[in-house]
Amino acid sequence: MIGLVLAAAGTGSRFGSETPKQFALLRGNPLYLHALECFTTFFDQAVLVVPSTWKEEVAQHIQSLSYRDKLILVVGGVKRQDSVRRGLYHLSQAVEIVLVHDGARPFTPPDLISRVIGVTRKHGACVPVLSVTDTVKEVSEELVLRTVSREVLGLAQTPQGFDVSLLKRAFDQAEKDGFYGTDEAALVERLNEPIYIVSGDKANIKITEVEDL
Ligand code: C5P
Repeated sequence: MIGLVLAAAGTGSRFGSETPKQFALLRGNPLYLHALECFTTFFDQAVLVVPSTWKEEVAQHIQSLSYRDKLILVVGGVKRQDSVRRGLYHLSQAVEIVLVHDGARPFTPPDLISRVIGVTRKHGACVPVLSVTDTVKEVSEELVLRTVSREVLGLAQTPQGFDVSLLKRAFDQAEKDGFYGTDEAALVERLNEPIYIVSGDKANIKITEVEDL
């Protein structure tokens, strides 16, 4: 079985609005629902991780969805990693592969999701990565320190796919070490397990600031 953890429990401090970005409306529907819809043909079960203050509202949004029975609603934690961990541990035992996706990425193309699932089935861990086209500088306050070779850099997107047992092991180790990362792959990297990449998609943007909408 394939599970999805949709991380939608952020407060969106960079979004500059009372409403967190994943609940901003686009064509009448909140962004996280657009994100969820991208995955409906792929998952057997999905955990939506949301802020406690939005739980009631989300429960109402999803009530009328045809695939309501496949959804679990969970309240998130302080950091993204806390939220994803809660989601992960709410998946059914029958789930073997988990996709973790940002609730603020509403335009994920189906072929990207298929490719992530395919590589995860084969190798156990997969991250979509975009190449870096701008020149990258290491900076400190007002000064440029040096130029970093962009050939060896990639921008990580979601969905990131993992064998459930591997991702749980990574989360448990991170918790033990008090380590916090900004994506799930960062936790798996610490186990020295290989993570394969697929090409990301420029359309698969994460809404971060109001201008992104
Ligand atoms: O802050 P950032 O843009 O990295 O957040 C990525 C995703 O993680 C967003 O969809 C956000 O709602 C989610 N998140 C979460 N729980 C938190 C913080 C962020 O689910 N505590």
